[in-house]
Amino acid sequence: MIQDYFRSDLSDFKSYKVSKNDYKVRMDANECFSNLPQEIRMKIAWAIEECIFNRYPDAGASMVCELYAQYSNVKSINVMAGNGSDECIQIIANTFLNTGDKVAVQSPDFSMYGLYTRVAGGIPIEIPLGDEFKLDVDGFISIVNKEKVKIVFLSNPNNPTGGIIKRDDIIKIIEGCSCIVVIDEAYFEFYGETIVDKICAYENLIVLRTCSKIGLAAIRLGFLITSPILMGELKKVKPPYNVNAISQCIACVILKDSEIIYKNVERILLERKYLWQKLSNINGIKLYNAQANFILIGVENAQIMKQRLLDAGINIRSFTAITLQNCLRITIGSREENQCLINNISQENIGNI
Ligand code: PMP
Repeated sequence: MIQDYFRSDLSDFKSYKVSKNDYKVRMDANECFSNLPQEIRMKIAWAIEECIFNRYPDAGASMVCELYAQYSNVKSINVMAGNGSDECIQIIANTFLNTGDKVAVQSPDFSMYGLYTRVAGGIPIEIPLGDEFKLDVDGFISIVNKEKVKIVFLSNPNNPTGGIIKRDDIIKIIEGCSCIVVIDEAYFEFYGETIVDKICAYENLIVLRTCSKIGLAAIRLGFLITSPILMGELKKVKPPYNVNAISQCIACVILKDSEIIYKNVERILLERKYLWQKLSNINGIKLYNAQANFILIGVENAQIMKQRLLDAGINIRSFTAITLQNCLRITIGSREENQCLINNISQENIGNI
């Protein structure tokens, strides 16, 4: 049977479900709500016209890494580009995990850490967050060391909670955990705090970043930032040519003019403030700390609310995990989208749930 050739340890895997994207209001995937302005798209079109299509792209995306290094105040030798930061997560798992090695993650946190751990033959250990999705830092460190974990993955700000771990605690984790510590700063721009300045101070630290949340989800570009010692190992596993020439070309246009990114972030932050205020006026909704480009809310019946919104053409993120029962994650939208959402979660609706 052909199934005899399949990996038995992947038999219970489900392929990553992406919801259909034909809703009028898409507030489910933590993307930036607006497309690039037309004049920038024209600039990109001209840049693509110059692309060399018959040759493989720059294998290490060196120009992109150089520009991203400037953007994030590090040296380019510390930066590796990936086909989305998803690929960076996979490269990390594949580089350091032997079969049966343990990886510590918070629960809840970004699901791909556990998935790529398992694909690499590792074992994810989920450490539940406490009240208000707070991390017990000392407890976390002690489990990591007791279990002889090889890698820790933490998103900061956390997806999906929107909460953060303060700098002192991040440092405590890096210093206290006897393993590689990956701090995923996918939502850094909406929080403003980073640990990237410490990559050379701690040889076990890797920082992840992405362009997906700041207006470039389509081009699939993420970054891994670390010290030369870990970088050398990671480079053994990185596929050559993993960032295609078109994405490299587009990223260069944008990163040469980072004002475009700052403007996107500024508008998202303004809308986050607006949406937060409007949601906080509605009875029956619990708001969690929102330091990213989304707001996690708690409601009495998430499934009913999600369906009502879908019926109105608004897609937001619901969850199956027990820890997120009756939570919904709302990506910050444009003013019109936010208003549309608010109108549909009116006081009367909440009363009926
Ligand atoms: N890390 C976190 C915490 C995320 O939320 C996401 C995207 N949802 C990613 C990484 C992956 O981002 P990318 O689009 O760069 O693969």
